[in-house]
Amino acid sequence: MLSLGKTKEPVAVLLATLKFAAAKHSRQRRKDLVATPYINHPIEVAEVLSRIGGITDLPTLQAAILHDTIEDTDTSPQELEDHFGQEVRLLVQEVTDDKSLPKQERKRLQVEHAPTLSTRAKVIKLGDKICNVSEITPTEPAEWPLQRKLEYFDWAEKVAEAAIQSLKSTSTLF
Ligand code: ZN
Repeated sequence: MLSLGKTKEPVAVLLATLKFAAAKHSRQRRKDLVATPYINHPIEVAEVLSRIGGITDLPTLQAAILHDTIEDTDTSPQELEDHFGQEVRLLVQEVTDDKSLPKQERKRLQVEHAPTLSTRAKVIKLGDKICNVSEITPTEPAEWPLQRKLEYFDWAEKVAEAAIQSLKSTSTLF
């Protein structure tokens, strides 16, 4: 199989990553009122990392685009490795929850594991939380009661805080 991870052109690699993620998420929708295509979310996370975080590191941006593929689609870690190489596969796995665990346990583990993640994975986690929190408004997701929204904000803050605290002690990002 052609290994895109070995392609020299970063733009080509990024476009191939977008195409792969778009195909994998093609039948999924977000929980907002207009049922936005799911792929908008990973694109937004990568764009936030680039625009706000100033991240230019290609594997980080690729893993941001792919961050929900193992968790929410039929993508296997091996498939990611075949297409994008070991570095990207490991990074996506780092930010993937163990879906065999109950939801509350997965949420607890995200807070617990945040300080132990690699710097790249922390940055992706932060981008993910920024995007998820900014999607929660008084009217959306429509089926969420206010209490659930407040609990989500609370939890996202804990994950972000745990990631940021340990990032501060790192002098260089990459
Ligand atoms: Zn996400």
